[in-house]
Amino acid sequence: MSSSYDVVIIGAGPAGSSAGYHLAKAGVKTLILDKAEFPRYKSCGGGIITRSDKFIPYDYSSVVEQECNTALLADLTVKKEFFVKRDKPVVRMVMRDNFDEFAIQKAIEAGCHFNDNITVRDINYKSDPCVELNNEKIFCDKIIGADGAFGITTRVSGHFKHLTAIPAMEIELNVDHATFRRFNNIVRFDFGLVENGYGWVFPKKEHLSIGVLSFSTGKYNLNQLLQKYLHAININTKDYQRHGFKIPILPTTKNFAYSNLLLTGDAAGFADPITLEGIGTSILSGKLAADAIIKSSGDSSKTGARYNRLLKKELLHELKYACFLSNVIYNHPAIRKFLFKNMGALLCEKMTDVITGDKTYFEYLSKPSNYIRLVTKLISK
Ligand SMILES: Cc1cc2nc3c(=O)[nH]c(=O)nc-3n(C[C@H](O)[C@H](O)[C@H](O)COP(=O)(O)OP(=O)(O)OC[C@H]3O[C@@H](n4cnc5c(N)ncnc54)[C@H](O)[C@@H]3O)c2cc1C
Repeated sequence: MSSSYDVVIIGAGPAGSSAGYHLAKAGVKTLILDKAEFPRYKSCGGGIITRSDKFIPYDYSSVVEQECNTALLADLTVKKEFFVKRDKPVVRMVMRDNFDEFAIQKAIEAGCHFNDNITVRDINYKSDPCVELNNEKIFCDKIIGADGAFGITTRVSGHFKHLTAIPAMEIELNVDHATFRRFNNIVRFDFGLVENGYGWVFPKKEHLSIGVLSFSTGKYNLNQLLQKYLHAININTKDYQRHGFKIPILPTTKNFAYSNLLLTGDAAGFADPITLEGIGTSILSGKLAADAIIKSSGDSSKTGARYNRLLKKELLHELKYACFLSNVIYNHPAIRKFLFKNMGALLCEKMTDVITGDKTYFEYLSKPSNYIRLVTKLISK
């Protein structure tokens, strides 16, 4: 049995539904396949930083659990914490089952076809591109890999070799009213306690999403780090279900197109290497893959090169500067502690500016005058 589409997208997370939405709007015959039955749970903090708003072409307030106007950034080793308050949301909290279901419905409304409960077993992305299911092949002109971390598209294309995997663990925790009130309305990041990484508390409508991640290359136990983190923030329970997964980051290549396959989101390794947020960058890369396909409709051999160019301009440039800062924060804890201790308030304000999209990493990190100002401030202390 076989059928055909212009584009087949593997995966209905933020990257896949974004690509499907834009392709269908432009009249491109598109099919999205997902192995899970929707709505499905996705291991994720569910924090959408508000710089991502500009990539989301519809109002998603109906699936927002709460908006946090305050960020708390702390370094537990130097016992310093900084609250940054804004008069607009810094992060919007969602549950991924609801958000992803909402986004896929938007793609369907735009005219995209969607089949859940279908696992793609193999892909042929060179000549006669097709995706292979159990007893069926679906032919197409282009395949979009939106199947998340270390899925089939990144494995078959060999792209995974260019990525670094950051292990993360997360729990959804019901707590008593007093504890919930302590964390409510605040998006919280704690550095220091979790070796070369951070712990977070994201308040949802009625519960807390809490997690830890680490860049450490040494031996460590994420489960023990989570326990240690819970203890540090005065939550004493072992009654929870853990969800662990890896976040692929820091691609060591500028190529994300392999013949007729375009990689997006986690399949490409586009999560921000500082915040590790990947929802916004997945949505953006899904849109750019769609744009490349739509704009190259006269000559589809140019799609891959066009996609790489769009990525360079809209995303990779910013990720390059984020990589530099990520290296300082996670691989040089002594520098991080020093900066936190001596000018933490200023740095947390600047980081919040980037999270809200008011500034970019590029704007802060590309200008030599900013480094001179930083050193002058440190010397004057
Ligand atoms: C613990 C944790 C916490 C996180 N917290 C945050 C956060 O708070 N904010 C944030 O912005 N990011 C966060 N992230 C990162 C974020 O979850 C990812 O970057 C984002 O989900 C990537 O989106 P995607 O569309 O590329 O892939 P995914 O959301 O992973 O979607 C991929 C889809 O592909 C499907 N699929 C996979 N293989 C196949 C196959 N063979 N056939 C068919 N379908 C397939 C899967 O079922 C899935 O639905 C977190 C990640 C982790 C692990």
